Amino acid sequence: MNLIDTHCHLYMAPLDTDPAAVQARARDRDVTEIIIPAYDQASWDLMTPYEAEPNLYTAYGIHPWLAHECSGGEAFDELLVALRERLETTNPVALGEIGLDTKIETSGLEEQLPLLEAQLQLAVDLDLPVILHCRGAFEELLTALENHKGKIRGVLHAFSRGPDLGNRFIDAGLHIALGGSITRPTAKRPRKSALRLPLERIILETDAPSIGLHGVFPAEAEPAHVADVAVALAEIRDRSVGHIANVTSANARELFNLPAEEGADPA
Ligand SMILES: [Zn+2]
Repeated sequence: MNLIDTHCHLYMAPLDTDPAAVQARARDRDVTEIIIPAYDQASWDLMTPYEAEPNLYTAYGIHPWLAHECSGGEAFDELLVALRERLETTNPVALGEIGLDTKIETSGLEEQLPLLEAQLQLAVDLDLPVILHCRGAFEELLTALENHKGKIRGVLHAFSRGPDLGNRFIDAGLHIALGGSITRPTAKRPRKSALRLPLERIILETDAPSIGLHGVFPAEAEPAHVADVAVALAEIRDRSVGHIANVTSANARELFNLPAEEGADPA
């Protein structure tokens, strides 16, 4: 069995103090690979040590929380040039994380939308999947995706809404990443999504150290906990954990074009 944490900020505290130990604990629970999305220029630079590691995969983008720092004019153009260069000179599996967020005060949608649009276009140009963050602006995100209909692939990460909304994003070409929220017995909407969304479009993640699980504080979350997400999904769908692991890992491998599982027979 093999599980993949498709979204972990391994370069953030406290995970960054001993990433090798984090990976070892993950492997103990069959979480063999981790996708690490960087979200601003400072975090891009922290990714270099991970670029060379076989079971760690990188992604680069500019998060909507930072949109105010580069809105309009020269700063915006320069950052986009730097992002393109970063993506072209490293070996990323995705462009992200990017998106929209109305629940923060630092930047508004009027600053976030042009940044999202420019990065979606870059993903199309470079033929990369996107890792999308969204809070409070699902309609706006769907409209942005609609503008690139058929050309964008990627994932809506940390999904905690219901299946009707989830299916609209699947129809728009995306996968849905489920995480710690489905491990909470009282979390009705994400658990309904876990039950109803098509399994062939679901991937798993922790978003560590930003999101916790049932009984696990965010700061304690780490890639090993993807195993708990897989167990919750298996219980909700009444399937074996092995089946859930096989399907969701194959989904992630295909979406992000990851190498074949270690020890797997070459196809
Ligand atoms: Zn994230």
